[in-house]
Amino acid sequence: MSNTEKNKIIGGTLYIVATPIGNLADLSERARKVLGEVDFIAAEDTRVTGLLLSQYGITKPMLMYHDHNKEQKEKEIIKKLQSGLSGALVSDAGTPCISDPGGELVRACIENDVPVTSVPGCCAAITALTLSGFVTGRFAFEGFLTGSQGEKRKRLEEIKLDKRTLIFYESPHRVQKTVALLHEVLGERDVALARELTKLNEQVVHTTLGRAVRFFDEHAPKGEYVLVVAGAKSEQIREEAFFADMTIAEHVTFYMNSGLSKMEAMKAVSRDRGIPKGVVYKEMVE
Ligand code: SAM
Repeated sequence: MSNTEKNKIIGGTLYIVATPIGNLADLSERARKVLGEVDFIAAEDTRVTGLLLSQYGITKPMLMYHDHNKEQKEKEIIKKLQSGLSGALVSDAGTPCISDPGGELVRACIENDVPVTSVPGCCAAITALTLSGFVTGRFAFEGFLTGSQGEKRKRLEEIKLDKRTLIFYESPHRVQKTVALLHEVLGERDVALARELTKLNEQVVHTTLGRAVRFFDEHAPKGEYVLVVAGAKSEQIREEAFFADMTIAEHVTFYMNSGLSKMEAMKAVSRDRGIPKGVVYKEMVE
């Protein structure tokens, strides 16, 4: 299929369209075409999207689709799509469905056999990750830390020993408090504080969580932030894991008592501790 054919707007299809996260020039040519040619646009905030569309001289029927009306609007959108109209879903900035409304609508489309396709583009999490300098091969997107202080702490406890790079979203009003909590629960680690990405005042501060708390004492947070936190190091995992006070032999016995063969238990211990299997075998035969 040629690109021209692939880019033809198909009736009855929902297009998930990414929009810029600050720099208008980041709206892709394909996104512009889709927004200009679909029959309707479902937008998180029609005023915000209206401003974007006016930059490109696009006028289009729009409807609001946000967290507070999504159940009711889902039915309306699905009905329009089933009648053969094509539609686009956009959020205020970046990729819909990523800490933004859209996930449930995509699920509803799938359940109703309505075709969905994506017009990819900006995502603040990925933009910040690429600028962090941390391991990018494996990462965990955590979005906003929500709920009570206790719930946030519990969520952090669950991922404390995750080796993957961690990505959080945060607003300027809460960023210092969030960084303090990250420091308290995850311990001292490298962090990249990325703000105003793609904008004139883009800034990425490479520091540690402890220093970041003090950094915000002197520099009032400005703009929206992505916090990219380095994953747990093997030493931290060893110090804080359930087996921290066990000898290697006790650790192997623990796994054997839970039903693993001696060989499987030794492999599990080597994986937990991040040490070569040979070291575990040697310990067990001595
Ligand atoms: N769907 C969006 C995406 O694809 O990135 C995210 C929407 S979420 C409601 C908004 C959060 O994304 C902000 O609070 C901030 O954490 C992050 N964000 C969005 N734009 C940003 C930018 N230009 N610089 C830094 N962070 C940004």
